[in-house]
Amino acid sequence: MDIEVVEGDITTQEVDAVVNAANRRMRGGGGVDGAIHAAGGPDILADCVRRFPDGLATGDAGWTTAGLMPARWVIHVVGPNRHAGETDRNLLTSCYRRALEVADELGARSVAFPLVSAGVYGWPQEDAVDAALETLRATATQVELARMVAFGRSAYELIASRL
Ligand code: ADP
Repeated sequence: MDIEVVEGDITTQEVDAVVNAANRRMRGGGGVDGAIHAAGGPDILADCVRRFPDGLATGDAGWTTAGLMPARWVIHVVGPNRHAGETDRNLLTSCYRRALEVADELGARSVAFPLVSAGVYGWPQEDAVDAALETLRATATQVELARMVAFGRSAYELIASRL
């Protein structure tokens, strides 16, 4: 699998699936979650309600339509919320592993990822990058392209320096 980094907005990526840093309720939120629901439109929330009536556990992943976005699917993952005491790093690496498993179920060959938990959920950005890259490198998958989407120049520089 190729791993690349681009600076930009995940909602405009022309890939098979975009990963969302969601929360356990799976009913939308702020940050990248809000951007994805806004760009994809109400079909995403409708799919979340239908497919995840009880939400998702921290560290898990599940898919919905991508609605109006160029991608076909959103793969929602729930990263650990450090502010709520979720400090186990395995919960973060699990998000990337499970996202690739769901991508394989879907037959997605190109997947764009945000830096899960590195925003409101408070994971230190450098370790969030390392957890992402080491898990993407170590996981066997049919996905051919993993694109890290850096939101801003400093995130881009950091990810590029670790790739
Ligand atoms: P979490 O609650 O998992 O921390 P956030 O959405 O607060 O999720 O932040 C996760 C990462 O997503 C942060 O690095 C943030 O800068 C980034 N981000 C926010 N909006 C977008 C976007 N539209 N595209 C890509 N990344 C984004």
